[in-house]
Amino acid sequence: MEVVSPRTLEEALRLRAAEPGLMPIEGGTDVMVDLNFDRRRPVGLLNLNEVPELRGWSRDDGLLRIGASLTYAQVRQRPLADTLPALAEAARTVGSPQIQNRGTLGGNLGTASPAGDSLPPLLIERADVELASVRGVRTLALERFLLGPKRNALAADELIAGIRVRPSGARQTFMKVGPRNAMVIAVVSLALAVDREREELRAAYGSAGPVPGLVTASTGERETFPELVAAAAEPIDDLRGTAAYRRHALRVLVGRALERCWA
Ligand SMILES: Cc1cc2nc3c(=O)[nH]c(=O)nc-3n(C[C@H](O)[C@H](O)[C@H](O)COP(=O)(O)OP(=O)(O)OC[C@H]3O[C@@H](n4cnc5c(N)ncnc54)[C@H](O)[C@@H]3O)c2cc1C
Repeated sequence: MEVVSPRTLEEALRLRAAEPGLMPIEGGTDVMVDLNFDRRRPVGLLNLNEVPELRGWSRDDGLLRIGASLTYAQVRQRPLADTLPALAEAARTVGSPQIQNRGTLGGNLGTASPAGDSLPPLLIERADVELASVRGVRTLALERFLLGPKRNALAADELIAGIRVRPSGARQTFMKVGPRNAMVIAVVSLALAVDREREELRAAYGSAGPVPGLVTASTGERETFPELVAAAAEPIDDLRGTAAYRRHALRVLVGRALERCWA
């Protein structure tokens, strides 16, 4: 299979526009599994690992810009981990150290799995996705980018360039339920923020609906918030758990997360 390795974002975008059949690849932790199981047969791979504009993160006047190639291992590092603590907690739960070293936020957005662990922490921070093409750059609220199970709003000629987020400074946490502590796809996951400044509670669930969902309420609604989040979720029965269990677990997780973040 042909592998094309552009050295700049401009070159990557030109290649993407010229041959939309080339599949973008960052860490390859989802792509290589799909290729090995013959689930996808792209004409070739667009290797984004040599594109410097997709790496690292920067802060400008309170706005964070995180490159699509940022790995979970990098998300765990300070000072970024102190700025987006729920995202750092989620990164610590992803796969194994090998997966955390290779897997990227851009890849998690590209896959758009309902179980994608970076998505709930980014939703509670109201992150935007930066999409680039030869036509220009546009940003889309993460909520609008996620369209359905493994479906996103990426156009055929676009690449995910990064994530833009204005960290709220709210106390926040991430929790994940699975049959063991490592190498699990979440049966259900939750990110929660208690935002005193805006007097707002924000919760986002994973693996409990076709896409990770965001639920908000005022801080005055603390007592009823677990029920509100559980009711908003749209879980299904599958081999990892029943819909009823997922809803129950979500209710419990919201209660625990509120206890943790309220103080
Ligand atoms: C053993 C194992 C354990 C795992 N555990 C977890 C887990 O606990 N939690 C979790 O959320 N995930 C988990 N995953 C899934 C995977 O690691 C994550 O989804 C990861 O974030 C994918 O990142 P990547 O860089 O490897 O993506 P890739 O495999 O390179 O790409 C994934 C998808 O995104 C597209 N893509 C990548 N970059 C771009 C871009 N810049 N622009 C446009 N499209 C792009 C690709 O075309 C592809 O469709 C696991 C995978 C494995 C193999």
